[in-house]
Amino acid sequence: MITLKSKREIELLSIAGNIVYKTHKYLLPYIKEGVKTKDLDKLAEDYIRSQGATPSFKGYEGFPTALCISINSEVVHGFPSERVLKNGDIISIDIGACYKGYHGDSAWTYAVGEIDSEKKYLLEHTEKSLYVGLEQIKVGNRIGDISSAIEKYAKEHNLGVVKELCGHGVGTDVHEDPEVPNFGIPNTGPKLKEGMVIAVEPMLTLGSPRIFVHDNNWTVETADHRPSAHFEHTVVVTADGYKILTGE
Ligand code: MG
Ligand code: MG
Repeated sequence: MITLKSKREIELLSIAGNIVYKTHKYLLPYIKEGVKTKDLDKLAEDYIRSQGATPSFKGYEGFPTALCISINSEVVHGFPSERVLKNGDIISIDIGACYKGYHGDSAWTYAVGEIDSEKKYLLEHTEKSLYVGLEQIKVGNRIGDISSAIEKYAKEHNLGVVKELCGHGVGTDVHEDPEVPNFGIPNTGPKLKEGMVIAVEPMLTLGSPRIFVHDNNWTVETADHRPSAHFEHTVVVTADGYKILTGE
């Protein structure tokens, strides 16, 4: 069921989204060679709690940590661990925060030190595909308009679209209806209405979009072990377009 959020609910979702945004900014100076991913997780969890919020993902269907940290060919749902960041890695950090029962959700892929030109290309165009999708958000358009715009942009740039995972509604649950796939057909799917809150999150790959899931039943990685990137914002549909809740 797709719910439309009230003004009061959108205020709380904005606060949650802003905490997620500030957590990303807080982590930035620590994303460098030699840092353990579990240390990023600890920093983020402490920061989220200092803002009066709780990490949305910790304990969600048994997920063990505050952050999902996915490196290089890992697409999503990587576990923070003793793994140490290396120069040339790309690291996708997915952050969820819950404030007074309302969630914010945003993922971003960062370069560790100097990355090669292929990885730069992947990051640049996966980020752009997110905004190309967001541009479709207006009252009266449909979810398929967002999905197809992302898919078209990815194809034009020779990037693979991971199809097994998608965006979603956000509210009192971090994953609500509707699903927001990163591929689809224009003018299909649920209509966008003022007060809908959705997370749009393209996951694109340099090689084949085929994936496999690790034995931990969570971590998703590309089957060909080529790099993957993930950019996500939570947004609210407004009378005249949309507003990003997980930005400044
Ligand atoms: Mg999400
Ligand atoms: Mg996310």
